[in-house]
Formats: sequence, structure tokens, C-alpha cells
Amino acid sequence: MLLTPRHRSRPRISRPRKTALLASAVSVCLVAAAAPAEPLGVGDRLFPHLGNPGYDVASYDISFSYPGTHDKPLQAVTTIDAWTTTDLDRINLDFAHGTVQSVEVDGRPARFAGADEDLVVTPEAPLSQGSWTRITVRHTSDPVPGKDQDGGWVRTADGLAMANQADAAHLVFPCNDHPSDKAMFTFRITAPNGYTAVANGLPAGADRIGRTTTWTYRTQHPMATELAQVSIGRSAVVRRDGPHGLPVRDVVPADDRKALEPWLAKTPGQIAWLEGKVGRYPFETYGVLMAQAATGFELETQTLSLFEKTLFTESAYPKWYVESVMVHELSHQWFGDSVTPRSWSDVWLNEGHATWYEALYAEETAHRTMEDRMRAAYGASDRWREAGGPPALPKPPAPGQKISIFRPNIYDGAALVLYALRQEIGRPAFERLERLWVQEHRDATATTADFVRLASAVAGHDLTGFFRDWLYAEKTPPMPGHPEWKPTAQAAPAQPRIAR
Ligand SMILES: [Zn+2]
Repeated sequence: MLLTPRHRSRPRISRPRKTALLASAVSVCLVAAAAPAEPLGVGDRLFPHLGNPGYDVASYDISFSYPGTHDKPLQAVTTIDAWTTTDLDRINLDFAHGTVQSVEVDGRPARFAGADEDLVVTPEAPLSQGSWTRITVRHTSDPVPGKDQDGGWVRTADGLAMANQADAAHLVFPCNDHPSDKAMFTFRITAPNGYTAVANGLPAGADRIGRTTTWTYRTQHPMATELAQVSIGRSAVVRRDGPHGLPVRDVVPADDRKALEPWLAKTPGQIAWLEGKVGRYPFETYGVLMAQAATGFELETQTLSLFEKTLFTESAYPKWYVESVMVHELSHQWFGDSVTPRSWSDVWLNEGHATWYEALYAEETAHRTMEDRMRAAYGASDRWREAGGPPALPKPPAPGQKISIFRPNIYDGAALVLYALRQEIGRPAFERLERLWVQEHRDATATTADFVRLASAVAGHDLTGFFRDWLYAEKTPPMPGHPEWKPTAQAAPAQPRIAR
């Protein structure tokens, strides 16, 4: 994710713990439940109630029926295939914005109740550890934000897009909403003819039946719920070849296709540039989704990154800046999407690397030197640590502002850690580490400790102390090779682009 400059200090509103819709929809069932349903989580330090223990989702199959207007709920069916990792009397899913109509477990009707932001399902018979189970939820998916809700569906001028990071997938569909549980996804989107639907992964059919068309997409790699994307709009899908025949498809408003083409044409070269740095692109396809919406950020949804169209049409943004933002989201496909953080405290591994390649691209293509940017970051780093915590120990989000974990400490503040590492172990070792990192943890999740271990192995000496200081200390350590770099007193934007 990358905040766009003009939205940087947009005040955000709080989200209640439970939505009235879900609460009223399930209140009848509460009576039938044996004991009060309780919300659970996987113990994420920043989002304690996200995710659920006791099972591992293998796949989601999600059907959405778009009514042709984005101010009415979509009818939806979410089918989850999961492997139980413990005996379960109940299965908690995360779901907080929609009406649940029915739940089945392994084809049998199950009781369900809302509890905080969880949907608690009680199957007829308890599930035993080490078995497959299929949970089918019929529900609505409401694109109109609930009072004080933020994230999930994004209403665009011509339809819908999705922005679930960090914790909003469960405003769209029932799920195990934590990046530690990646799964395969199939999306089936039914929309009136004239609309185009695109989702993560490769197309697997478009079936026209009467006045509607059902579009099917499948991911070829596991994906975190926060990275799901479904675009429904009056869109053109522009196809071209990327490096070694990689299918690139961009999704743009049909009327703007020609005007946006110069930007779209840049993607294959950017992919080739990144492949030259870190190795083969990790997924089956890529592309940019240019949405007519004021999201306030761009987002690395897997295989199809979400951008605000105005990033490309507003003349105030310098060309090199726009390109570096494109590279930021593209590099997330390796760092954040293919290699997913095990917990949200590891998010510096996403944003630090995306910022790193964003800056490196600007250095190599637009003569904006990394050293200048990192010197400026060094000057501000202590202040960022004070405001947001050290890069690998970020402060919890402000109450009701969950997106507020996306602070400068995990962007340029974390890229600064990578710069310090490169200074410490030298460029060849650093570049080898980057390639190995995305290779070894491809399609998986990884922790900060994993990165420290691999960096130490590549460097040939223990870097635990180095990383402890750089990732967890209140104050920024001295920069190797630049003893003259000092914290600066004032928050002064060093370059026009820096506004996030
Ligand atoms: Zn980002």
C-alpha cells in the first residue's frame, strides 16, 4: 500500500466493533446456540481479533452477483475448504458487514451467530482434528460502508473495486482474515451484460446467460485475503506480453483506454527491470487496475494492483514519481504478496522493500539518488520511530484507524534499514540476499526472524545484534559508512514526492 500525497492527512473515522446488520441478522440464532459465541483471533499483536485458530483454509470459492448498481448489496455465496488443526465444536470466521442467510458445514445446515467481527458457526457434529471440512455461507456483501466502516469494497464511478488491506476482507466475504493463512481463490462474478468483471489470477470462462454474464477467475498461487481484488465496471481489459511471454492485462475505464496507454506500456519494462534485480516474476499474470475512485492509496492486490486513475491523469505528479509508484506496487508482488508477512508486525518487510525498489528505480531511471533519499530518511528516522515505533515493532493502529499502521517508520524508515544492511554487508551480499529471500519464501509466509537468519547466512556472520538495533531500538543507530549522518530536528519534506 502507498498513500497518495493529497490524502496523507485525511482524517479517518472509526469502525464499530460490530455492525448492526450482522447483529440483527443473527440474533434469532443466538437463542439456539448452546453458549454465547465468542470472537477469536490468532493473536496478532496489532490486530488481536483477526484470523481464527483451529483450521487452515485451502481454498475459497466466492460467487458475487452484482445488481448493476453499487449502492445495493451483492448476493454472495462463499465456500471455504479447510483442514482442521484441532478438534472444533465451533468454527469462527471473520465477517462483519453483510447479512448471513444460511451456513452449511459439509452439506448439513449449521447454526451461526455473530460475535464482534466474527461469524461463529456451530456444525451439527463437532469436527475432529485432521479432517477436511467445507463451509458454505450464503450472505450479502454490502458495498455501502457501514457507519464508520472503512475498506473492503471501493465504490468507483462505474462499479466496484476492492481494497482489503490490512483487515477489511471480512467486510466483503467470510474468511480467515489474516495473512498467515493463504489460500487458493476462485471468483465467480455475475454482472449485467455491458459490465466487465476481473479478479485475481487467470480467467476461467465468461458465460453469458440472458441479460447477465458470469466471469470466473482462479488464482494459480496461494493468496492472502487482504490481497483479493474484484473489479466490476465499464472497463476495457488491455492485454500485452510481458517478459518471457508473461500475460499482462490492465483494467481501465473503457473511455480512457487510449489516454492511459502510455502508462500501461511501461509495465513490461518495469517487470523486466525488477526481474533483473530479484529474479523471475512470481505469478501467472500482472496488470494495473485504474479505478475511478478517491481511495487515497494504491494497493498491491495480487496480480492486479489497484491505482487511482487520477495518479495518471493529474499533471501535478512528476512522471518519474508516477513510475516509481507503479514500481512500488509491482515490487510488492514479490515482497508482500508472494512472500507474505506472518504477522502484521512484519509489514516492514513489505513496505521497506517496496520503498527500496521504488527508490532504486528512481535512482536508475530518473537520477534521484538513493543516498539523498536515505540521508533525508536518516534525518527523520528518530521522529518516525517515536511516532510509529521502530520498524519491526510498530505501534498498534489508533483506535478506529486501523490503516494508521501504514506510517513512515515502515516505509522510508524501513528502507533505511535495508540501506544500512547494504552498507554493512556490501552490495553483492545484499543483492544475493534479496534474490534468495523471495526464492526461499515464495508462495509462503515469513517473519522478521526469518529475514535476520537468511541475512546472517548470506553475510557469513551473525547479524542478530545489527538487526536488533536497526529494527527494534527507539533510536536510529549510526549509519555504517556515514558517521556524519545525524537526526534532523524539523520535519522538512526533503523532496516533493514525499508525502505519506
Ligand atoms: Zn506499499
